Amino acid sequence: MGDPTRDDLARGDLSLDDLPVRLDGVVKRYGNRTVLDGVSLEVTPGITGLVGPNGAGKSTLVRSILGLVRLAAGSVRVFGLDPAREPRRVRSLLGVVPEDECAVPGLSGVEMVRYAARLCGMPGLESLRRAHEVLDWCDAGQERYRPVETLSVGTRQKVAFAAAIVHDPKMVILDEPTNGLDPLERRAMLGRLLTLARNHGKTVLVSTHVLPDVQSICDRVVVLARGRVRLTGTIEDLTRPAIPAHRLEGDGPLDDLARLLCARGLPTRRAGDDEEALLLEPPGPDRLGLVWESARDSGVLIRSLEPAHRPLEDVFVQALRAADHADMTAEESAGRKVSHATP
Ligand code: ATP
Repeated sequence: MGDPTRDDLARGDLSLDDLPVRLDGVVKRYGNRTVLDGVSLEVTPGITGLVGPNGAGKSTLVRSILGLVRLAAGSVRVFGLDPAREPRRVRSLLGVVPEDECAVPGLSGVEMVRYAARLCGMPGLESLRRAHEVLDWCDAGQERYRPVETLSVGTRQKVAFAAAIVHDPKMVILDEPTNGLDPLERRAMLGRLLTLARNHGKTVLVSTHVLPDVQSICDRVVVLARGRVRLTGTIEDLTRPAIPAHRLEGDGPLDDLARLLCARGLPTRRAGDDEEALLLEPPGPDRLGLVWESARDSGVLIRSLEPAHRPLEDVFVQALRAADHADMTAEESAGRKVSHATP
């Protein structure tokens, strides 16, 4: 049987032991400071983006999934296992690419990945074969033979990624995986995450500040602020515009096309963000021909025509404003209660 999918979960075909991550009422404090404040969430198969402002608690949340922090309350389950009780088993199921440098100076890239494989109990020759296999997949080239501390940021990231997946984990967790990467490397890294999830059935959790990356590859997003989950859902649902629209991208006189479509009864306007796009009422199958004909008549070459989405950044900002408002209201009402109680 293949790896479970989100559809399996939705149909109830998955037991809780198959659910990659489940947090229930997790509270983490450092001194008297509450960093995770009753976090409950599920990470389902597919790619999930974990986003939030600096200090929101994202890294602490990841550390609690790995069983690296002692919780004040709540429970964490990773494929049904408690990371605090069975840390070794849990870590064998997970691959982690931390944000901080985790290279061992003096080791070459390939030795670093092999070392990670050995730590997971892979025998000698097999660990070397597998290290080369994943480095090939990550396109690490000949740089793999150089000491890790001399590698470019891009190659170091490939080595860290290869080390995280060398033992074929069921789930991969990445902290800021595209930090410092040039646009081509960034795109390649996102492509690898998509391949892992879509072709190899891996669950991927990406903690990042780069919202366009989340919008382009993630199925779901979790917004964390001041240690609480403020919003969670599918990217598709969260970015759906209030008034449904289609976005048409094309080359040629788009203003002529817009006028023609309006004259033919299909209201159309320029997309605010992009000079080469129009927003139109969803044409529906019966009026799709009208769009193509009008494009031909006005000399526009259509590059794409698909449902429009709001930028995830707008959704994120809105969620943070709502969080600020909710926290302020809660503080005010707590203050009122205290002042009522004071004689
Ligand atoms: P960033 O996006 O900046 O990486 P984050 O969302 O990952 O932030 P965390 O690193 O989880 O946030 O930190 C949440 C809060 O907990 C911060 O205020 C941080 O200063 C505090 N914190 C984290 N680790 C510790 C620690 N070991 N001791 C004390 N406070 C800590």
